[in-house]
Amino acid sequence: MSGSPLLALEDVHIGYGWDARSVTPVVRGVDLTVAAGEVVGVAGESGCGKTTLAMAAAGLLDPPGRVTAGRILFEGADLRAMSPEQLRRLRLAEISMVFQASMNVLNPVTRVRKQFLDAMAAHGVRNEDEAIARAREMFDRVRLPQRFLDAFPHQLSGGMRQRAVIALCLVLRPKLVLLDEPTTALDVVVQRSIMQMLSELRSELGFGVVFITHDLSLLVEVADRIAIMYAGQVVEEAPAKHLYGAAGHPYTRALMSAFPPLGVARVRMEGLPGQPPDLRRLPPGCAFAPRCLQAVEGTCDAVAPPASSSEGHRVVCHLYEPKEAPVG
Ligand code: SF4
Repeated sequence: MSGSPLLALEDVHIGYGWDARSVTPVVRGVDLTVAAGEVVGVAGESGCGKTTLAMAAAGLLDPPGRVTAGRILFEGADLRAMSPEQLRRLRLAEISMVFQASMNVLNPVTRVRKQFLDAMAAHGVRNEDEAIARAREMFDRVRLPQRFLDAFPHQLSGGMRQRAVIALCLVLRPKLVLLDEPTTALDVVVQRSIMQMLSELRSELGFGVVFITHDLSLLVEVADRIAIMYAGQVVEEAPAKHLYGAAGHPYTRALMSAFPPLGVARVRMEGLPGQPPDLRRLPPGCAFAPRCLQAVEGTCDAVAPPASSSEGHRVVCHLYEPKEAPVG
């Protein structure tokens, strides 16, 4: 991919706290880019900071959440320097976000059609015929019968509601779509069909995607690049195919080993022992050290690991040795 990135997060720190002196850090120095049309997956356990990061990237982070340092650039413009009105105009029209709980997005007492009209009117599409035509087109694209535009959200199944939300998020043709566990609340069959539909829509409409999930096996299939987060940091980032074959961080390998294998004898799955650290009291050295089976005493529990990169694969671990690029 060439040109400047669609989204660039530069050394972003985010914390929660009403008082600036007692902010709990939840995102710690994240660098991440998304190019136009690219799918970047972000995976990690609950509480690792992935949703907070996406909320900040969409300009949706409200107090007590606050970006305490770094830059969030959308097409080169820093979201942190924008006024609330500039951010409002950007959301939905340029940057859209699909949440896990679609029922929380749609107003339960308003027909779907009205919600589409209101969203478009807020962004300057006030001609009702044009707005309805756009809503119908999006319903066709997400394979929902147009008659459901006249339904109330509770008259749609969970999968249909999520399709309606995706249609709403794409109706103004945003350049960047943040998907926060968009299929987690759905059964696997519906999950599969929605993932397929999203992938087709991305090819047709060309938007870039940040896909957040704890399901690394799903990301390996759909993402171009994957970032693994632990305790607020990106501990590994690599092209999806590379990560699948050559994960370099012990935490990523632990997540990978939690995939149930297909086509082989049933084996007992081993979970990752322990809990993520309390972000208010992070251990010295590597935040993963208390759970890492490869931790080196005196090093991992004392010194913060460095980041090492080679050929787009970046790992933050004392033990990682990047492969030498072939000569010639
Ligand atoms: Fe494990 Fe040490 Fe690497 Fe941290 S730095 S992931 S504790 S080996």
